[in-house]
Formats: sequence, C-alpha cells, structure tokens
Amino acid sequence: MLLVDKFGRAITDLRISITDRCNYKCVYCRSGNEGAIYQDLPFSEYLRIVRLFAGVGIKKVRITGGEPLLRKGVVEFVRELSRLRTVEGQPLDIAATTNGHLLAEMAGPLKDAGLRRVTVSMDAVDPECFARITRVPTGFARVLAGIRSAKREGLDPLKVNCVLMRGFNDDQVEAFAHFARQEQVIVRFIEFMPLEEGRLWSPDIVVPLREIVERIGRVLPLVELPPNEASETARRYTFHDGVGEIGIIAPVTQAFCGACSRVRLTSDGKIRTCLFSQVEHDLYGRMRAGASDTELRRYLHRTVQQKEARHHIGEPGFLKPSRSMVHIGG
Ligand code: SAM
Repeated sequence: MLLVDKFGRAITDLRISITDRCNYKCVYCRSGNEGAIYQDLPFSEYLRIVRLFAGVGIKKVRITGGEPLLRKGVVEFVRELSRLRTVEGQPLDIAATTNGHLLAEMAGPLKDAGLRRVTVSMDAVDPECFARITRVPTGFARVLAGIRSAKREGLDPLKVNCVLMRGFNDDQVEAFAHFARQEQVIVRFIEFMPLEEGRLWSPDIVVPLREIVERIGRVLPLVELPPNEASETARRYTFHDGVGEIGIIAPVTQAFCGACSRVRLTSDGKIRTCLFSQVEHDLYGRMRAGASDTELRRYLHRTVQQKEARHHIGEPGFLKPSRSMVHIGG
C-alpha cells in the first residue's frame, strides 16, 4: 500500500537529514552560538528507513542537514541508496542540498556513487555580501568552484537556492538573474520562513514573489514556464530568449501545501510531516525497541495520516516549531 494522507496527497518525497552540524552560520538560519544538538544515526539505520519508505511509495530522496557533506561516509551512503528500488522497480531519484563548501572535491565521487541532482545554497553573488550572510569569509570562491565542478560532473540541471531578506541581500536579485544565464544554472529565490534559531523573521523582511518578478522583469523580461509536476514548489520563469531559468519558491505569500508530497526525517530519526509540525514521530525509537519492518511500515502509514493540512505562517497564533531549519533538515 502506498502512502497517501487523509487529504489524498500521495507522499513520494523524503528529505533526510544526516547531521545537524553545519560549517556555515547563515544569519537567517543559525544564531552562531548553537552547534549540533541532535544525534546522528549510523548510515545503516538511515538505509533501513529509506528502504521502508521506498516500499510504500517514496520515489525521491533528498539528503540534507545541517551540512550533509560534512558527514564522513556520505558517498558510500549514496552508493547504497542507489541500489534501492521504488515500488515500480525504478532507481530512487537521489538528490542533495548543500552549502557547496566541500562540493568541488566531492561532486565527482557523489555523481559516480549515484547522486542525480544537487541544489547549492548561495545567498549572494557578491562575495562581500555572501561573507556577511554566511559569516564565512572565504566561502564564496569555494561555493562557486563547487557549482562549476558539479556542472562539469553532469549534476545537471543544477539549482542554486537563495533566501532573500530585505536589507541583507535583496539588492542581489538582478545580479542573480544574470548569474543564472552566465553559469547556466537554475536560480531559485526562496521566501524567508520563520524557522531560524534567533528572532530575525518578520513579515517585512520577506521579499515576496511578486516583487522579485517585477524587479527582474524590469531588466530582463521574464516568460512564465509551466510546472514540471503538480507538486512543484517553484514558480518557473525563463527569459525572452529562452536562455536561463529562474524559480521562485513562495511558501509565505503563495503557500503550496495543497500539493505537498513531502515528509522529513531528522538526523536523530524522527519523522516530521511538515516543516512547521508541532509534533514529531519517533520512528527510530520504534526501531531501537525492535519493531519489525511490517510494524514500521504500518507506523509510516499512521504517521502520514497526521500530516497537517497546511502551515499557518503569518496568521495570528502561529507557533514556530520546536526545531529550527538546520536541526530539521531543509
Ligand atoms: N547546509 C545545506 C545547505 O546550506 O543547503 C542544507 C541544509 S539548509 C538548512 C537547507 C536550505 O534551507 C538552504 O537552502 C537554506 O538556505 C534554507 N533555509 C534555512 N533557513 C531558512 C529559512 N528560515 N527560510 C527559508 N529557507 C531557509
């Protein structure tokens, strides 16, 4: 039986955090005072979990963190994942999200191991602005080298995610449009969500989709593209000449919960059915207690039934989740 929640949404996409450690201190994510908080599991346990999920309909697995490339053994883990099959007998679509700092040297081995796609987080194309946001002075050159190396290795189409914040990097919008064309990458702007360790978020700091489209359109006319699939989170645009692609992910101003196909696994083995869940489901606790695969599959079905209809960002009474993004896995 495949995973379908009580609103009829098929759950086909698993995001799995393999560590909540990170070597960047992006101002919108980490306070800079906290390190890792939660335990990592051995890769063999993540593998068992992914195998269980694949057996009930998961097709895409995204490895994330913290910073997933910090975890020793990640290449071998990807190789093991690539041996798993979906219910239809197809290989899993394996992707990773990374800050790119270690990608230049790891892109080739990851691709060889079976990674299909990579998303690199990069919040500025100006090196000084990049350093102010990440609080890592030498990061920009490394991340750019990582992006180029991943493209050379065929991890294509390569997506570059940028979280826009008014007063921090909103002046980078137009330069990012040029960057997408020059580097032949898909740049995706993400609206800032209230998921940070500190207290930076406010409605005013969010740069909304409409504003991004208008601003880029003034320098390079945009043409909207159809979604690749129903659960696509990004609104997609190309330019008048068809060269380059921009995506805008607008969870705040244009939420896409109705088409959500995702669940998340935290590094310590808890299932989260929404980024903004107020409850976690202790899958690993059940594994440690000796539950069989059949019992665990039943647990996955029960858990998915509790998936929230939608998030409530910006509404009165909104509650931040107990974990911030870096400890959930973005
Ligand atoms: N370290 C990896 C990276 O940098 O991509 C993976 C983990 S990171 C938490 C995953 C993604 O979440 C990044 O693209 C990051 O920019 C994004 N992110 C973190 N906090 C966010 C927030 N409050 N709102 C929107 N996106 C956020």
